[in-house]
Amino acid sequence: MTEPTRILLEENEIPTHWYNVVADMPHAPAPSLGADGKPVSPEQMMAIFPTQILEQELSAERWIPIPDEVRETYKIWRPSPLMRAVRLERALGTPAKIFFKNEGVSPAGSHKPNSAVPQAFYNRQAGIKRLATETGAGQWGSSIAFAGQMFGLEVRVYMVKVSYHQKPYRRLMMQTWGAEVFASPSELTQTGRDALAKDPDNQGSLGLAISEAVEEAASRSDTNYTLGSVLNHVLLHQSIIGLEAKKQFDKIGLYPDVVLGPCGGGSSFGGIAFPFLADKAAGDKRAQNLRCVAVEPNSCPTLTKGEYAYDFGDASGFTPMMKMYTLGHDFMPPGIHAGGLRYHGDSPLVSQLYHEGLLEAVAVPQLATFEAGVLFARTEGIIPAPESCHAIRAAIDEAIKCKETGEPKTILFNLTGHGHFDMSSYDRYFSGQLENYDYPADAVAASLAHLPKFG
Ligand SMILES: *Cc1c(COP(=O)(O)O)cnc(C)c1O
Repeated sequence: MTEPTRILLEENEIPTHWYNVVADMPHAPAPSLGADGKPVSPEQMMAIFPTQILEQELSAERWIPIPDEVRETYKIWRPSPLMRAVRLERALGTPAKIFFKNEGVSPAGSHKPNSAVPQAFYNRQAGIKRLATETGAGQWGSSIAFAGQMFGLEVRVYMVKVSYHQKPYRRLMMQTWGAEVFASPSELTQTGRDALAKDPDNQGSLGLAISEAVEEAASRSDTNYTLGSVLNHVLLHQSIIGLEAKKQFDKIGLYPDVVLGPCGGGSSFGGIAFPFLADKAAGDKRAQNLRCVAVEPNSCPTLTKGEYAYDFGDASGFTPMMKMYTLGHDFMPPGIHAGGLRYHGDSPLVSQLYHEGLLEAVAVPQLATFEAGVLFARTEGIIPAPESCHAIRAAIDEAIKCKETGEPKTILFNLTGHGHFDMSSYDRYFSGQLENYDYPADAVAASLAHLPKFG
C-alpha cells in the first residue's frame, strides 16, 4: 500500500480561527423573531448567553479567532484523524476513494465537545459559575459536563426522564465529570412542577427539558444556558472539522468531490461542509463541482420534506422563531435509534443555503443505515453511532454509483461519533426488532398546520 490510511496533523496545526459561512452567503441570514414578530434584541438574549457567544451568533466576520485556552483544550483529542476507508472500498469493489473524519475520538465520543469547550470557556470568562442544559439521549449533556469540568463550572443537566432510566451509562458519564443530572420533568422548576401536577407519570420530552433549563438560567444571574446544535455560534465552532479536513487533504494532494454528513440540528454537517463552500465562494477551481449532501432519516425528513418557514425551536413554543426547514414544532418523530437526528427543525444557516441551492439533502431508511454501519464496523473496525450510520449509508451509495460509472471520485463523510453507548440499538437490529418507519405524511401535515402565524 503506497497511499496513506491515516492522515494526521500536528498539534500546532490546529486551526487558529473558526470559519463563519455568513461572510460568504449570497443573502444575509434571516433574523430570529420574538413572539411579537419583531427581531429578537441582543438584550433579550443576554439573560441566558454571554456577550461573546451573542456576538458570534450575530457576526458576519469571515474568520473568528479561537482563544488559546480553547485550542489548548482541543489538544486533548484534536486534530482528529482523517482516515481513508481502504477496506470498505475493497469490500464494495469501488474505484472511489472514501475518507472519513473521525470525530468519535473526543472524550465524550462525538463532535459535540468542539462547541461545548468554547461555550464553557466564554461563560467562565463572563464570570458565570453554573451552566444549565437539557439532554435527550445524553450526547450534549456529556459533552457539556466534560467541558464544564475543564473550566471549573458547575453543570446541571435536565435529562428527558425516559432516557434517564434507559441510558444509565450516559448519565454516569456526566456524573463522573461532576455534573448534576436530574430526570425531567423535575421538582426543581415551575415548568417541571406544573407538568408533574398534571401527570405524575410524565416521561418527559426534549421540549420540557429545554423549558426547565432555560427557566433556571433566566432566573439566576450566576447561571447560563447552553445549546448543542442549530444556532449559528455552534456551527461556527464546528467549522474546525472541515478546516482540519482541508489541511489533511492538502497533505495528500486530494480534494473531495462530495462531502456527506448526518444532519439533525445541522451543526456537524455545517461544520464539515462550510469550509469547503468557502473555497467554492472564493472561486477555487477544485471546488467548482463539489457537492455537499446532508443525510437525514426518512422518518424525520426536515430538509427533504419540510417547509421553509418561521417556527419555534422547541416543542412548547418557548424559544424565538427561526426561519428554517421544519416539520412543525409539535411534530413527534417516531422512536428511531438515531436520537441526535430526531429534531423537527434544522439550523437556519443550513436551511438558507439549502434553500438557495448551495447544499443538497437526501433521506435514508433506518434499516439501511444499520446495514451500512455493520459493514463499516466489519471493514474499518470502528463501531459508528446510529447518527453517523446515515452518512455511511449515503457514502456507500455514492461509492456504488462510482462502481457503475467507473468514476474514481473522492468521497468524504463525517464520522460524528462512535456507537459504544448505542449497542442496545445494534442488539435490536441483529434480533430483527428494528423497523423502517415511513415518512409520516399525515403527522407532518397536522403539525405544519400549527406553524406560528404572525405579521
Ligand atoms: C448530536 C449528534 C448528531 C446530530 O447533531 P448535529 O447538530 O446535526 O450534528 C450526529 N451525530 C452524533 C454522533 C451526535 O451526537
